[in-house]
Amino acid sequence: MKSANSTMAGLGTTVFEVMSALAREHQSVNLGQGFPDDKGPEEVRAAAADYLLNGHNQYPPMMGIAELRQAVADHARRFQGLDIDWQSEVLVTSGATEALGDCLFGLIEPGDEVVLIEPLYDSYLPIVRRAGGVPKLVRLEPPTWRLPREELAAAFGPKTKLILFNTPMNPCSKVFDQEELAFISELCLKHDVYAVCDEVYEHIIFDDRRHVSLMTLPGMRDRTVRIGSAGKSFSLTGWKVGYITAAPELMKAIARTHQFMTFTTPPNLQWGAATGLRLEDRYFSSLAVDMQRKRDRLAGALATIGFDVLPSHGTYFVTTDFRPLGFNGTDEDFCRHITVEAGVTAVPVSAFYQSEAAPRHFARFCFCKHDSTLDSAIDRLAKYFAR
Ligand code: PMP
Ligand code: GLN
Repeated sequence: MKSANSTMAGLGTTVFEVMSALAREHQSVNLGQGFPDDKGPEEVRAAAADYLLNGHNQYPPMMGIAELRQAVADHARRFQGLDIDWQSEVLVTSGATEALGDCLFGLIEPGDEVVLIEPLYDSYLPIVRRAGGVPKLVRLEPPTWRLPREELAAAFGPKTKLILFNTPMNPCSKVFDQEELAFISELCLKHDVYAVCDEVYEHIIFDDRRHVSLMTLPGMRDRTVRIGSAGKSFSLTGWKVGYITAAPELMKAIARTHQFMTFTTPPNLQWGAATGLRLEDRYFSSLAVDMQRKRDRLAGALATIGFDVLPSHGTYFVTTDFRPLGFNGTDEDFCRHITVEAGVTAVPVSAFYQSEAAPRHFARFCFCKHDSTLDSAIDRLAKYFAR
């Protein structure tokens, strides 16, 4: 038999699936894969339920239902001051995962170079490669995860088609500041490069930081693609409703890709997401405040147990160095070990790197859980490491 596509057939199973399966097998407290315990806002779920029972459950328009596309545009104006034409500049996708695929397949020509920032979300590299892109990786170093400007500038060249990055950033919980974004935008303008910005954690940002979309920077309006996710903004990760905002020229190729990938997304979930994006400011600020409190609860306890806890400025996650606990194996060993022996699951951070030279002493813990779940994980880890 002939072999399947070598890029895809050669991949392992995603770390999130692997660790969640291991957590189920050992009935551990799963702080690995990032999904909230919270059920999500009742009015959002009620809107989707009502639409499911009483609405039009047939193919919605390929670009998404008008109500959601209008809500995406209004939300961009409310939080980023962006003036978006919902008809030509907004596309609904089946999660940010599909959105990323649509952008990469739609924009990359084989041989194009794509600048990526390590550590990176695990779907990026395989899709860039499958689209024929040539990855140019720039690595952030702990504990500050500051943008290395010279290296970033050196990664750009005449063949660069786009930069893809994520802020607030999974897994290292960095938030790109205005100066870093300005530096990226200058490189994009200088080299005539597009930016694909994965902004799924735009509302999960801490300590009075503010999320800034690269699209708002001078000159970037028409060369930036902005991706959001209802899964993250409304604690409904199973819904898989994403949205892309991009100028009409860019959107054309992205939408053409979407039409042959999924074509649409369940209409009741789109309706629910539209309801969510129209919630009052208070909802979004309390989401961040609540997550920040959870971050403090888990980060403080992990530090007391003996982890070296890195700062977390946004997302669902906190990165920890486990070496102070005396564990000398790899991060994969550690995450398996605590799942089996302590009954708590985390995710090895080396899964977010391309190379063999990835750091191997960080574990990512997810804090978007009920206090009781966090406390039970803390209790188990404290008892285990006090042995
Ligand atoms: N990008 C990042 C950085 C993520 O953490 C996630 C995961 N949840 C996604 C994209 C995918 O989002 P969705 O579930 O909407 O496909
Ligand atoms: N984004 C989630 C995480 O980082 C996982 C998403 C998934 O499982 N595909 O944990």
